[in-house]
Amino acid sequence: MNRTMAATRVCALLLCCATACTRRSKPAERSWPAMGTFASVALPEADAEKLDSCVTQAAAVFNELTGTLSVFDPKSDIATLNRAAGKKPVPVSSATHTMLSLSLEYAAVTGGCFDPTIGPLVRFWGFHHAEVPASLPARDDVQAALRLCGYRHLKLKRSAAFLEQPGMAVDLGGIAKGFAVDVCFDKLLARNVSRVMVNLGGNIRAAGSPGNGPWRVGVRHPFDGDSIVGVIRLIGGQAVATSGNYERFVTIEGKRYAHIIDPRSGMPVQGMAAVTVVAPTAVEADALSTALFVMGTRQGCALLSRRSETHAIFVEDQKPLHLRITPGMQALFTPEPAFAHSVRVLPPTP
Ligand code: AMP
Ligand code: MG
Repeated sequence: MNRTMAATRVCALLLCCATACTRRSKPAERSWPAMGTFASVALPEADAEKLDSCVTQAAAVFNELTGTLSVFDPKSDIATLNRAAGKKPVPVSSATHTMLSLSLEYAAVTGGCFDPTIGPLVRFWGFHHAEVPASLPARDDVQAALRLCGYRHLKLKRSAAFLEQPGMAVDLGGIAKGFAVDVCFDKLLARNVSRVMVNLGGNIRAAGSPGNGPWRVGVRHPFDGDSIVGVIRLIGGQAVATSGNYERFVTIEGKRYAHIIDPRSGMPVQGMAAVTVVAPTAVEADALSTALFVMGTRQGCALLSRRSETHAIFVEDQKPLHLRITPGMQALFTPEPAFAHSVRVLPPTP
């Protein structure tokens, strides 16, 4: 077999507070399948009686957004938009409109390294149930798929969206879960839930404190799914997300290719193992973890020097492991003792 496909449970990516805070009071937590991954809500032990209603609320948000944003649901706004590519604009819900407009903002901010129209390349490389190429594709074929991508050809009107070329396809796999976490988080806070952690496939946002100190999230070791490299503290409503090459990949001619594609070349990104981002919102953490995975350490760090509230850990795909962190991450990240010597603080970019 020269091709295999592996998908690991993304929720294992970041071990949430219940695992990381064993010496503290144990939060009340429940998880369930949602949006093709696992969702969970955690509350401080003292608020455990609110868990049922929070889970009901969160599950309703995630179900509704799946019906609107999923490329796999033929009735969703996104599937409808993709079918109408090159033909006509289609009406979209206000949630879809907000999501697409945020996607275009992150595409602009990252110089197109985050590209919501990456769909044709994602399928070309054999993700999303498409056939994995039997051998490494020819450059011309990659270029042909690449020509179908380009966020500048996704046009948003007041309550409609349009893909200008036939064959284009929106894929929100790199941002939709973060967006869904923010929608859920805002709904829970509006219902007077002030201490909560929401997790959707490793896209996590937390408010308040679970009791003694902030919510804490373990960061998975990219080369060893059974261990963590350290713990991140989330303060003041912050969110965290990780993009990794171990999450989902295809194997072509014995070599692994990760599910994050560089929209500049059309090739799956090589050289990065994982990028973890802490940001003021889950949508920013999700979009930028994907984009920084594409941009790499140097370019990614330069981008974050212009976003003072967003911090990252870059792990390149080489051994021994190095954790390169932006200056602002120092106050939030505590490495496990075994990895303390592997941490380097990246110099601020002029
Ligand atoms: P994440 O795990 O959040 O980094 O998202 C990865 C998913 O985002 C992939 O499975 C694709 O669906 C999609 N994706 C891949 N490459 C890109 C890219 N360059 N920009 C935006 N989305 C991407
Ligand atoms: Mg992402």
